[in-house]
Amino acid sequence: MTFDSANDEIFDRIQSTAGDATRKLLLRGGTIITMDARLGDFARGDVLIEGNAIVDVGHDLSSAATDGQAIVVDLDGAIVIPGLHDTHRHSWQGQFRRLLPDADVVEYNRVMHRLLAPLYRPEDMYAGNLISALGAIDSGITGILDFSHNARTPEHSDASIDAWEDAGIRAIYAPCAPLFGEWQHQWPSDLRRLREERFASADQLVSLRLGVLSQAVGKTLPQSDEGAQLSENALRFARELGLAVSVDGVGGPVAAEQLERLGAAGMLGSDTTYIHCRDLTDAAWQEIVASRGNVSLAPASAAQFGQPGSISPIQKVLDVGLRPSLSLDVECSLPTDMFAQMRYLLNIQRTGAANGPVESRPDAPTAITARDVLEFATVQGAKANGLLDRCGSLTPGKDADIVIIRADTINTLPLNNAIGSVVLGDTSNIDNVLIAGQMRKWRGHIVYHDIEKVRRLVTESRDHLIEISGYDLNIVR
Ligand SMILES: [Zn+2]
Repeated sequence: MTFDSANDEIFDRIQSTAGDATRKLLLRGGTIITMDARLGDFARGDVLIEGNAIVDVGHDLSSAATDGQAIVVDLDGAIVIPGLHDTHRHSWQGQFRRLLPDADVVEYNRVMHRLLAPLYRPEDMYAGNLISALGAIDSGITGILDFSHNARTPEHSDASIDAWEDAGIRAIYAPCAPLFGEWQHQWPSDLRRLREERFASADQLVSLRLGVLSQAVGKTLPQSDEGAQLSENALRFARELGLAVSVDGVGGPVAAEQLERLGAAGMLGSDTTYIHCRDLTDAAWQEIVASRGNVSLAPASAAQFGQPGSISPIQKVLDVGLRPSLSLDVECSLPTDMFAQMRYLLNIQRTGAANGPVESRPDAPTAITARDVLEFATVQGAKANGLLDRCGSLTPGKDADIVIIRADTINTLPLNNAIGSVVLGDTSNIDNVLIAGQMRKWRGHIVYHDIEKVRRLVTESRDHLIEISGYDLNIVR
């Protein structure tokens, strides 16, 4: 059977056995990129899933399907990769996708944080997160860190988490205090309640961590709320609750000095992700390395927003012995899938490498490969999101977070190099997405119970916020 002659009987069987922990699913005859060096890749191979987990990967596992023991999904002409991980997105802004394609950071802050964010109701948080989540699944992202710096009340946080749970994606909810406007000052203490009420079970797809802004962000936003910033108290609080930490806006001398100080005080840990990492001192880098911290590069972000030192410090990350993860940042101004991020990073680094000899620079970057950036978007993303033991590679024992990409379509055929087809391809060829063994995208379509309702919620929320803010929405501006 090929994709073109697929019938929905298979999908019906998959869905009717969705909660069955003994259900076997055999992904058969695809090109398998495991991102697990010990397993290697398979020009043609099978993946066997039982319940929510990968139980085997090999050249031929068809015996598992004998006598109908497994549901077989034929993947002739397709590539199988681990799910992608976005390690930093401000998902609450989902209903304002692509609103500000030309904004610099001043304009972004004015519109999103000063004007719109303070007007968000809990249902607006839900709508923004839900459309971000479904868009993520659609584009092959199975794990996403939601840096939610609009947690104005406990109800805002609950609505955010509801959206992640309803979407069925693996998410890390990282609430942070809002930057402007009225709020209940429940952050960070409300994380204690959230942990008990919403995250009691270790089996949940959605988890919790603390989001904080680097002190450098506060310096650029003199009227913002200082409560949102990284501090010894914030770190102590996170550790007391056993929560990991993501720090956004890391860049420049203020951020570097802060990392040096916190590092010297022994406050930094391997559970922390530093986002952007522009223009840091060697001493600050050494504190990140010594504490075995994680780095998230948002390769499109700083340049788009016109910030100094905006080229992602890929070479620096590699030079200090780390491997970066990748992230999108905001959907209102930036490309919103991981393929764009992979290609940005690949191109930035290879441009630097190519220009090095021309510019006679002794510190010229070295070229990286398509496989490198796929590793950043899978393995390193899962690591930064604290989930490497559960996903990031197609390793037996890990959860089945899997993306299946067609390589037999007009824009990809013939299949000559699987890594190239993935990294240089785009989201349009993503056929199936599984998260913890559940089918979340099937034959090119999101599996969600009520897409019309999503459309309505998102549009109503957008319209409401535009109306009460007085923002001049002009879609052909
Ligand atoms: Zn950010």
